[in-house]
Amino acid sequence: MNEDFPTENPIESLENEIPASAREFHLEMPLYKEIVITEANLEKVSGLLDFSDTIDTYCIYCDKESVFETNDIAGSGVPKLRVYTKYKTETYLTSSYICTRSSAHVYTSYFRIYGSTIQKVGQFPSVADLQIPQIQKYRKLLGNEEFKEFTRAIGLAAHGVGIGSFVYLRRIFEGLIEEAHSAASQNHESNEEEYRASRIEDRILLLKDLLPKFLVQHRSIYSILSKGIHELSEQKCLKYFNPIRVGIELILDEKIKELDRKEKEKKASETISKITGELKTNDAD
Ligand SMILES: [Zn+2]
Repeated sequence: MNEDFPTENPIESLENEIPASAREFHLEMPLYKEIVITEANLEKVSGLLDFSDTIDTYCIYCDKESVFETNDIAGSGVPKLRVYTKYKTETYLTSSYICTRSSAHVYTSYFRIYGSTIQKVGQFPSVADLQIPQIQKYRKLLGNEEFKEFTRAIGLAAHGVGIGSFVYLRRIFEGLIEEAHSAASQNHESNEEEYRASRIEDRILLLKDLLPKFLVQHRSIYSILSKGIHELSEQKCLKYFNPIRVGIELILDEKIKELDRKEKEKKASETISKITGELKTNDAD
């Protein structure tokens, strides 16, 4: 056992999750998230820092997916990383990834190593800059107010504010349920007394025919968001932010698909009625 590194215990390793890919590490991980470098993860952290292969990601300048390559890796290597962590000095490292379509399209991240802890302390373009263009497709569905709240959730999480980001995600989730509830009320399909007396997860079941299937199946998203707001730490909320955000996007994707289907159905039905009408007129002629 190397004495220079803290030993891992199961509780620490739960909080101390290492991003699964270089893309996540350099471009998607929120600022200030602390990773404790241990003997067990040293090689993995070094591999992420010095990742010199290509990264597939969205280019905000090309406005589409692109391939990024590096010419400026953070440059640590396992032996250097061992030295940085052994002595309690501050070390700053920079990584840059460049779009293969244009050398002017550069994504840069800055890392700080202090003792056995590494954090990303800067990034340009920001995590939010990279993610917001990808959620533009939800603007029409959510409306301006809720869309703004969604971008705020992403912006807060990108800057290490986990609990605050959960507040905005929960409002979007509640908005989806309220929309289904008001549709049910208009069609006189809801028992208001029963609805009001129910917990959110039971309300979702009452409205299940009007809500996206993914939302009904994963109604526990609401409890996770509420638990985050009331009980979880900033770090835990940040750790859960991306999976919950993806869950909400899947719900929105399902709604968009359903609206497209209804629109197509409406148009087809109008056209068929028109053709039937024309044929009837021809028959009468
Ligand atoms: Zn580009």
